Amino acid sequence: MIPRSDKPMRPKRCRVSGCGATFTPTRSFQKWCSPDCAVVLARQAKEKQRKSLAQRERREIKVRKEKLKSVGDYTKEAQAEFNRFIRERDKDQPCICCGSYGSDEDWLTGGKWDAGHFLSRGAYPELRFDEDNCHKQLKTCNGGSGKYAAKGRTVAQGYRERLIQKIGQERVDRLEGPHEPKRYTVEDLKAIKAEYRAKTKELKGRAA
Ligand SMILES: [Zn+2]
Ligand SMILES: [Zn+2]
Repeated sequence: MIPRSDKPMRPKRCRVSGCGATFTPTRSFQKWCSPDCAVVLARQAKEKQRKSLAQRERREIKVRKEKLKSVGDYTKEAQAEFNRFIRERDKDQPCICCGSYGSDEDWLTGGKWDAGHFLSRGAYPELRFDEDNCHKQLKTCNGGSGKYAAKGRTVAQGYRERLIQKIGQERVDRLEGPHEPKRYTVEDLKAIKAEYRAKTKELKGRAA
């Protein structure tokens, strides 16, 4: 038996929102004025527990997914953010290789512009996040270079000529010169993604 205090309890307010009745509890932990309110409170507590459990599960799933991501996935995410920045930076400029703004039909077929690399990411991974090496390019120009060798040559030549006009011979020489090989760690890639997200946001803020 739990000994009951013979001191009279102080009156409390019922915890059920919308009730708020004043009552004199018979136990110190009692938070409800009536059996009905007790049921309501119990239900609310259970609901709260259920919600926090669901929240914890979602968090755990997120952590697990994060662990399953490969360096390739992080590279893709960082590249997407970098490319978005390039398109924003060159927003008012024409295609780097042909100087055209493209036709409106291109726009209708889902996205007109790419961020096109001068020296390819495959052959020059160390230049995949180099701002001099990447410029706004029509998707049709960017996509055509691989498929048609003859057209590809003109696309590449056009890119090089217009790139020299845009950034100068010296900077093009740097791109075409020797570079240190680069291996990106997950931490590097996360940092690049965050950096370019912030830079794009800053550009957009400045334009607004
Ligand atoms: Zn009540
Ligand atoms: Zn072009």
